[in-house]
Amino acid sequence: QASRLFHPEDTVIKTAHSVIGAGGLTLMAGPCSVESRAHILKMAAVAKKGGATVLRGGAFKPRTSPYSFQGLEEEGLQYLREAADQNGMDVITEVMDDEHVELVAKYTDIFQIGARNMQNFSLLKAVGKAQIPVALKRGMSATLDDLLNASEYIAAGGNQQIMLVERGIRTFANKYTRNTFDAAAIPVLQQLTHYPVIADPSHAVGHWDLVTPLAVTGVAAGAAGLLVEIHDDPEHALSDGPQALKPGKYLTMAQHAKEVHQVL
Ligand code: PEP
Ligand code: MN
Repeated sequence: QASRLFHPEDTVIKTAHSVIGAGGLTLMAGPCSVESRAHILKMAAVAKKGGATVLRGGAFKPRTSPYSFQGLEEEGLQYLREAADQNGMDVITEVMDDEHVELVAKYTDIFQIGARNMQNFSLLKAVGKAQIPVALKRGMSATLDDLLNASEYIAAGGNQQIMLVERGIRTFANKYTRNTFDAAAIPVLQQLTHYPVIADPSHAVGHWDLVTPLAVTGVAAGAAGLLVEIHDDPEHALSDGPQALKPGKYLTMAQHAKEVHQVL
């Protein structure tokens, strides 16, 4: 069902405030984690100012270390929803566990499946039964066929509102970058499938000063949207501070992304 052979026309995903995959550029921005009510309210206003229609923020965090901040859970979801509503935005947030699908569904407009869970088949089946769009992130060692097969688990349950996220993969070259952004994955996926492809330059590169070059690369490669992390005080961020764009840099990135999108 992911294949264009059986479904030649592009899948367009419509949420309350966004149309994804219809030729426009959808901006999704926010902090890596929901840190507090005041903070997500502040970051939502910044995200909106740059033109984002989707507010991101993790309430359940898949941290590499169990001793790192794990997220505010339901309290975080409440703050995220409030911040998005206050700014007329949609919410995207990660669901990590099939047991939480129902809870997260009460608050979010788009489920994010994290890279580490791309082949968590019980989770994929659970979101496949939901009526909410799913942003499926490419696993850090996943081929494009692995990603497309993972998407089939969601579609098989009846949920065809899927977007695929290129967020960088592990390669031999990851000394100066967190991952390697696979720009070619974007047009290749668009040939193979009808689902919109989103670029996440933040997790791909891991350093704020490299995010804008990769964001515009993603747009130039044909991404239907960008998923970008922002923070007003990255040094004190509870997760992924080094890759967060400060508000001013974010606004510049958003401007450049829009300019590149316009010339396509
Ligand atoms: C995130 O979006 O904060 C995240 C954990 O992303 P990924 O699953 O791509 O590492
Ligand atoms: Mn993050």
